[in-house]
Amino acid sequence: MDQSHSSVTITVDNSDPREPIASCERCGKLGTIARATRHSEPPLVLRYCADCWPAAQSELEARQNEEHRQWRLSPDKDTSPPPGWSSASRSWHDVVNFLRVLALPPKGGRAATKQELLSIAAEISATANEMSGAMPSEVRAFLDQYSPPAA
Ligand SMILES: [Zn+2]
Repeated sequence: MDQSHSSVTITVDNSDPREPIASCERCGKLGTIARATRHSEPPLVLRYCADCWPAAQSELEARQNEEHRQWRLSPDKDTSPPPGWSSASRSWHDVVNFLRVLALPPKGGRAATKQELLSIAAEISATANEMSGAMPSEVRAFLDQYSPPAA
């Protein structure tokens, strides 16, 4: 299968996605920790709780891939591409995924430098207390490896 034309371009939104009085798009639970925005006119904003976010995120990626596939197949060459998405979360699930990608750079991609790893560790540490749930051991191990020793 040719993955080189994969068009998933969900960008990261750095704003705080935690909304204690918003209810989850999937289960209706109060208190969301993730937000996905479709940059359409008007924008579509979806909010999810910690439990639903991993599944919701996969669905959104599948939906975006499908929209791009349809767009590429469209006989009308003037059709503009479907709007992109951005997302922000305070889910450890995303941090773990990110660290896995980092550990296995894509074919042809370069590995992160020590300096980059140190700054990633600093960013993770900076938001650690805002995250939903306990820090997974994978993340803890990464921080132990790349965080400067506490003064
Ligand atoms: Zn939910």
